[in-house]
Amino acid sequence: MRKSTRRELGKARELCWHFLEQERCYFCGKLLVEEVDLEFGLATAPPIPVEITIHHKDEESNRKKFSAVDQSKANRTLAHRRCHKAYDAKKNQIWKKKGKALAAAA
Ligand SMILES: [Zn+2]
Repeated sequence: MRKSTRRELGKARELCWHFLEQERCYFCGKLLVEEVDLEFGLATAPPIPVEITIHHKDEESNRKKFSAVDQSKANRTLAHRRCHKAYDAKKNQIWKKKGKALAAAA
């Protein structure tokens, strides 16, 4: 890896650690990263040990068309990837049931 790329990656990771400190998962409410024990300013931060993703709060209402999802910061929040996946699975089951109920009623 080129030195400039390594430095950019280290700085990007460092910024992630900085912004994730004390942030909580939208779904489970637990801290996204448990412990932040770094020397900031060296651009040598290690990878984030937990998979984190962005959840769109209005995702449910725009379920059929992802491009219609509001991309503003107010609509974006952070979540553990595993919590988001569990939410997606549950949401898809509910929509499947709703779809069947609607089809049966028609
Ligand atoms: Zn979570």
